[in-house]
Amino acid sequence: MRFADIRDQDSALEIFKRAVARDKVPHAYLFEGPPGVGKNIAARALAMILNCDEPGDDSCGVCVNCRKIIGDVHPDVRFLGLPEGKRRIPIEMVRNVQGWMEIRPHEGKAKVLVIDPADLLTEQAANALLKTLEEPRAGSLIILISDHASSLLPTIRSRCQSVRFGALDESTVVDLLLEKGLDKKESAVVAALCSGSMERAARYTGEDLAERMQAVTALLRSASDNTPQNAMAIAAALRGDRDETLAVLELMLQVLDELMWLRSSPSDETVAQSAIVRFFGDLLEDLAQRGSPRRMAQYIAAVYKAITAMTRNNMNPQLAVEGMVMAMRGRTSGGEAWGRIGAR
Ligand SMILES: [Zn+2]
Repeated sequence: MRFADIRDQDSALEIFKRAVARDKVPHAYLFEGPPGVGKNIAARALAMILNCDEPGDDSCGVCVNCRKIIGDVHPDVRFLGLPEGKRRIPIEMVRNVQGWMEIRPHEGKAKVLVIDPADLLTEQAANALLKTLEEPRAGSLIILISDHASSLLPTIRSRCQSVRFGALDESTVVDLLLEKGLDKKESAVVAALCSGSMERAARYTGEDLAERMQAVTALLRSASDNTPQNAMAIAAALRGDRDETLAVLELMLQVLDELMWLRSSPSDETVAQSAIVRFFGDLLEDLAQRGSPRRMAQYIAAVYKAITAMTRNNMNPQLAVEGMVMAMRGRTSGGEAWGRIGAR
């Protein structure tokens, strides 16, 4: 939970360390960047160094203030998140902390309020927060965290100092997954798939991965060797479970992304070393070595379209998958509903 525990975010840490050393911490930060790269941990680490009894280049991690912040029981540090079962952060939650923000720190040195994910504040909640951002109390800090910072109100964005967080290195993800108890082969394939995000990695770990991988393989195979009936069977098997179908399609996108990258790399050796290709075996090796970039792009477009059809237009998962396989095979007319989506 200290700065020392945060990986691959050197430029963000540099900003914090300089601000702390010069006693020039702004009253509000906006941490933006992909999910699962350490933004929330960095917020806690920052709250720690600001309240630590013996701060240096980093917090000590062992004083009473540090330990209370780690244990989430410090009276001067609060984390606001999505309440269980809710899709947005309601205005009451913001109102509840506003009075608290205005009083002096109780035990520590700085009041720190963290809102994660800030893009899920309701509009009223965001407007209420604006008031606190406009009239900050000296020595208090608000940290807004978002994977989709562009959807925050411009008036909120403009009152925060933005700090960008980047994706984690693949090797870092492997290390973190090994620490979580995954084996080497699994860690390598998940790291290759998750684009440097531990949140995405979490979606791929667990028992579901092997099954989803099989579904992806079967879909790719039926698209490439003209056996659409297989695709229909898979679609039927996934039917009724929208989330599971979306998970399979997202996995498929990541796999195709990796294949595109492999296609652009010059050596067969790179292909052979790819954790994903090794995991999927012959089919992907074949696609990686012989699939034309145009075909890969066609595949990727088809998967995107299916995901959009399901998420934005609420299309039945089975129809979406069937239409996707047709589109991958170069047939645009994959059923009436699919045709309508295609025309949008
Ligand atoms: Zn400390």
